[in-house]
Amino acid sequence: MNERLYRLYIGGQWLEAKSGRWFDVVNPATEEVIARVPDAGVADIRLAIDDAARIQPVWAQTTAGARSAILGRAARLMIERKEDLARILTLEEGKPIAEARGEIAYAASFLEWYAEEAKRVYGDLIPASHPGKRIMVVRRPVGVTAAITPWNFPAAMITRKLGPALAAGCAMVVKPSELTPLTALEIARIFAECELPEGVLSVVPGMDAAALGKAIMEDFRVRKVSFTGSTRVGKLLMRQASDTMKRLSLELGGHAPFIVFADADLELAVEQAALCKMRGMGETCVSANRFYVHRDIADVFVQKLSERIGSMGMGDGASEGVQVGPLINRDAVAKVKRHVEDALEKGARVSLAGDAPAADGKGYFYPPTVLTNVDASMLIMQEETFGPVTAVATFTEESEVIAMANETPYGLAAYCFTRDMARLFRLADQLEYGIIGVNDGVPSTAQAPFGGVKESGVGREGGKYGIEEYLDVKYVSVGGVANV
Ligand code: ADP
Repeated sequence: MNERLYRLYIGGQWLEAKSGRWFDVVNPATEEVIARVPDAGVADIRLAIDDAARIQPVWAQTTAGARSAILGRAARLMIERKEDLARILTLEEGKPIAEARGEIAYAASFLEWYAEEAKRVYGDLIPASHPGKRIMVVRRPVGVTAAITPWNFPAAMITRKLGPALAAGCAMVVKPSELTPLTALEIARIFAECELPEGVLSVVPGMDAAALGKAIMEDFRVRKVSFTGSTRVGKLLMRQASDTMKRLSLELGGHAPFIVFADADLELAVEQAALCKMRGMGETCVSANRFYVHRDIADVFVQKLSERIGSMGMGDGASEGVQVGPLINRDAVAKVKRHVEDALEKGARVSLAGDAPAADGKGYFYPPTVLTNVDASMLIMQEETFGPVTAVATFTEESEVIAMANETPYGLAAYCFTRDMARLFRLADQLEYGIIGVNDGVPSTAQAPFGGVKESGVGREGGKYGIEEYLDVKYVSVGGVANV
């Protein structure tokens, strides 16, 4: 395949890196180089911040209607180009093409939602305690912002940040994952065509993520950073943010429990478990990582789930009908292998061990696997696996399973399946998670607040909550009113 050449998008221009360096983008299904991208360095990211800082006061003064119109056009263009964008996304990330189409629609839904939300950034007039005064509260954009995004949702993790930032009147510099820069640059192309003023959006991929991140964090002009990625990097960014007192949204790792009670609708639980576990090959921060199934139904649940997952065809995600693609890279496969081997050494049993794809041995594939007899001593019950491995433990008491579910530093998503309404409310209260799916394995949607507690991060993305992250509250005390 001929590799395509891309350019950085900085200040409305398509540029090469100042260093003249390039890096390769690899298709995880074939290990072929599919594109070359300029390898942005600190000088390039500074240029993007310069441009953003220059345009920021102008952008902040545009009307909500003008910003809404641009976001609305971008959302429509994204949907028009869904097929092309999905193909690029699958090529660089590996997920099945049907899922990639779904991600593009999901990504566009954030632009559409925030096109509307831009018009609803309201203030307040608060009764004052003095007749000659008025208390006025307005919301203003925080200023220049930056987004550092991961590879597992190359489109949606950008628009979930960019939508509210632009709606609020903030310029944004995007540093996408070096593994999936192409979708990010295609999103830049869409905004360029929607007449977004030059400099309001820059997309600056590069290999040296630590140096680029540091340059962003050190720059006082960047007032807010939104990051989705590992807890390790999230903690580093939080430390780095303190010197310039930046606002932060951090959407970090998860370790989602998936609890099935004996009174659950079993067919629903199995279907939602398969969706929740296998979406993106299990490489999402809300993927179910630990299954706790009531002892009375564990055997039948495991059997049905193994059949369901075992029926999913694995291969190159670009082929129509494939339901399980490759993992992102060799390291990802090694981590999943380590988790499975550790579990087997400590006594786990195999209920499903899928076949590797028959092809030429190329590609970063790991076959769907279901393990039973797992316990808390195993890595798979302690760390994010980020792969297509279902690990099932059993329980008997509700209080016991709630304690096990909460026994982790993470707190992003949890899932529970029950028909008992009273239990539903107890779980909603007691599970220490930012997102709880009750009889629902795929709760993410543009209008709902997405985010975690504990070491899964701070801040919320989506819905009316997401835009608050990009707004400062400004209080204007107006005196002398009674004399007027
Ligand atoms: P993952 O393990 O899911 O790849 P990472 O946290 O490593 O998660 O990556 C998420 C994003 O953070 C990517 O854009 C990556 O390039 C970036 N990143 C990685 N290391 C750093 C760092 N030291 N500082 C800033 N950003 C970083």
